[in-house]
Amino acid sequence: MSRATVLKGTGGVWHVRLADGEIRQAAMRGRLKQNEGESLKLAVGDDVEIEGVDGASWAISAILPRRSVLARRAPGTAYGERVVAANIDEVIVVFAAAKPDPHERMLDRFLVIAAANEIPARIVVNKVELVANGAAQARFGEYERIGYPVHYTSVKTRAGLDELRDMLAGRVSALTGPSGVGKSSLLNSIYPGLDLRVGEISESVNKGRHTTVGAEMHPLPNGGYVMDTPGLREVGTWGLDANDLAACFIEFRPFLGECRFGDCRHLVEPDCGVRTAVEQGQISAARYESYSRLLEDLVGQKARG
Ligand code: GDP
Ligand code: ZN
Repeated sequence: MSRATVLKGTGGVWHVRLADGEIRQAAMRGRLKQNEGESLKLAVGDDVEIEGVDGASWAISAILPRRSVLARRAPGTAYGERVVAANIDEVIVVFAAAKPDPHERMLDRFLVIAAANEIPARIVVNKVELVANGAAQARFGEYERIGYPVHYTSVKTRAGLDELRDMLAGRVSALTGPSGVGKSSLLNSIYPGLDLRVGEISESVNKGRHTTVGAEMHPLPNGGYVMDTPGLREVGTWGLDANDLAACFIEFRPFLGECRFGDCRHLVEPDCGVRTAVEQGQISAARYESYSRLLEDLVGQKARG
């Protein structure tokens, strides 16, 4: 029996990696398979035990306890949780200072998904050499103020790359963000020769097939993994409850107990702690705007079924 980590799964075959770096292909053992549909379903990032079968192949015989899960919830069903990935230590959201121009509302969507899954998030602002000194810091400073670590990087000048390498070492990081911001370039500059491509599984690869494009773990030379998690950004499809949304804006949390109504949605209700905090400048108007737009999306989605 050996311990291994699940890197990816394709058509019932799971690629798992042993502690010494050896990669094997393994199938789920029947006994575990019966739990399908319930919470115990194998996911990328899982730590597992594998056993030899007839000296020829490998089978996954146990899933070890998870440190975290990134899960989509299907509203209204008891077992409606699909685990997208397990054991992510941190979500790293990458944006560019320019080209493409950063889109704060989209950033907020990524941060909400991380918060909803209780996974810490970190922000990387790449391509900083394209904007004036301090411009990126001014634009993203609000995120630092509310408690998110923000890193300013440039693949061109190598600014911030050493620090980012230290952040990735020894842990499982889910790297995400819009395409074209430099995710692959960052990884390839930090780990030359590794040829990592984040988000390389393009939709076209899977068009016409009924498999969902899954997450994939890339082992890093100095320990740890970078996980590629396609499709992270559509908050609505994660089945979030509208009533839980406000707490996913982490700086709203201290004010949530100050609303007159326990089920306050912080829109038009009187004596709302969140809106008071916005008026007093303790919550930024932009983040509040993100919140109300996202809430609208979630409520609209529910109404449409
Ligand atoms: P991904 O889709 O997020 O993986 O983005 P890529 O790594 O493919 O990068 C998209 C484009 O941005 C490529 O043309 C890169 O050469 C370019 N790029 C990446 N990092 C930087 C940077 O720090 N500065 C500038 N100016 N361009 C960059
Ligand atoms: Zn309120």
